[in-house]
Amino acid sequence: MLGLMQDWPLLCHKVIDHAAQYHGAREVVSRSVEGGIHRTNYRDVRNRALRLSKRLEMDGAVLGDRVATMAWNTWRHLEVWYGILGIGAVYHTLNPRLFPDQIAWIMNDAEDKILFVDLTFLPIVKAIAPKVASLEKIIVLTDAAHMPDDLPANVVAYEDWLAEADDDFAWKTFDEKTAAGMCYTSGTTGDPKGVVYSHRSNVLHAMMALQPDMLGLAARDRLMPVVPMFHANAWSTAFSAPMAGTSMIMPGAGMDGKSIFEMLTGERVTITAAVPTVWLMLLQHLDKENGALPDLERVVIGGSACPRAITKAFQEKYDVTVMHAWGMTEMSPLGTVCSIKPEYAHLAGEEKLDIQVKQGHPPFTVEMKIVDDEEHELPWDGKTFGRLKVRGPAVSSAYYKGRGAEQFDEELWFDTGDVGHVDAHGYLQITDRAKDVIKSGGEWISTIDLENLAVGHPDVAEAAVIGIAHPKWDERPLLVIVRKDGREPTKESILAFMEDKVAKWWLPDDVVFVDEIPHTATGKIQKTTLREQLKAYRFEAA
Ligand code: ADP
Repeated sequence: MLGLMQDWPLLCHKVIDHAAQYHGAREVVSRSVEGGIHRTNYRDVRNRALRLSKRLEMDGAVLGDRVATMAWNTWRHLEVWYGILGIGAVYHTLNPRLFPDQIAWIMNDAEDKILFVDLTFLPIVKAIAPKVASLEKIIVLTDAAHMPDDLPANVVAYEDWLAEADDDFAWKTFDEKTAAGMCYTSGTTGDPKGVVYSHRSNVLHAMMALQPDMLGLAARDRLMPVVPMFHANAWSTAFSAPMAGTSMIMPGAGMDGKSIFEMLTGERVTITAAVPTVWLMLLQHLDKENGALPDLERVVIGGSACPRAITKAFQEKYDVTVMHAWGMTEMSPLGTVCSIKPEYAHLAGEEKLDIQVKQGHPPFTVEMKIVDDEEHELPWDGKTFGRLKVRGPAVSSAYYKGRGAEQFDEELWFDTGDVGHVDAHGYLQITDRAKDVIKSGGEWISTIDLENLAVGHPDVAEAAVIGIAHPKWDERPLLVIVRKDGREPTKESILAFMEDKVAKWWLPDDVVFVDEIPHTATGKIQKTTLREQLKAYRFEAA
């Protein structure tokens, strides 16, 4: 017997319809790339997205066409996504921080036909466009007045281009499993791999993200996604915020501590989300200026492990709750959020922070397990760590063109490449990337734990731990430190600080000081480059 309910395809553009209908006046505020603050609302975003769909069709774009964007978070980027989605074309976000050749490779792989680009990134696009055979048109997200001279005929100003259509358009309807968006993983090992979201997975994922223990957005909230739309599907915010009728505050190109502070306070942001490096910059700015965050209630921190010191500062100095989150491009990206379940509700101070350094528990639809090298499931005791596998309707079932097939098994478990443990209450703690974990005398040492500990030292700005070959133990940890400006920590003071906080055999064998630690295009420590830089290093005894 079948249920007798309506079959309503879960299409992304229904989300902006809902926002326009029931939350039409809710603001979308952006720091515009040309300068100044721009204000619009969901009703107008929808109308312009309808116009955009119509205009794309006039250019011959059809269902399945890949349409790239290389843009900051602004109202224009948001309406571009919905306009692309409304005709069943596929938004393909490009990370401008990748090497130009890598961007060209990705665009060729995806066969992007049209590209929307912010003025900031025009120089990159000029260099790579001749290398992308499929690219027909480049639309610069600005008006005629701000267009640079001497551009080829296929490069047009967005506002003029858009004005050539009206908004008398009906969204297209199609199967909810149709591709909606593409995002390539950064490919620190091997070629980048294309993740392809569907309309259904994006809608389900936004609903998951809205659960109270996850992002828990409400119509009264004002959300600032500092996480760029080109990073891991913007952590669902482009769908979950309109779905809940939450105002969006878009930081544009202003990603420094001062600009973020201005938007947070000036626009009365209640919830925001970004990687730890962004919050380090903000906290430094607040420290220097003696600033306060009176409206901000919650900050979502993920993308790499959130150091305890950041959580402590937000909560104890600024009265802002930290929600540590873990996820990945392949998971749309939400995997877990560290909100407090009743089992931990009695905790306070350092004991509560012990829980908050964990990455948290999954929303409905995300299934996870940890396994050993022989694929045996490991116990959830909060200490036994193994490879983390996940599955669910917003988790990739394959990469574009079948790459990386070895990461998926026949039961669709996806190997995240992360290593972690899970406690009795279902809280995941990531201890490492599988390729970074240090194997010392047959046991594993978590580089993330050591890094988090080291950045708690008052004179340490940033820390990274890598494994160095050791004749007796196979590998031993080397701690790499960037000092805080004007501070002179010594190896001895750092090791003494760490000594009573980890098992003795985890303590790094040595500490080296550097001016800078290399980062990936998404702001994570680039261990491959760091290992390369330190490949001549040997432990004294070795
Ligand atoms: P990219 O690899 O391109 O930077 P992703 O966002 O897909 O983009 O990266 C996902 C990876 O980032 C995860 O597999 C994990 O290793 C790491 N990561 C994400 N969030 C956290 C977190 N809270 N703690 C530790 N690692 C994290």
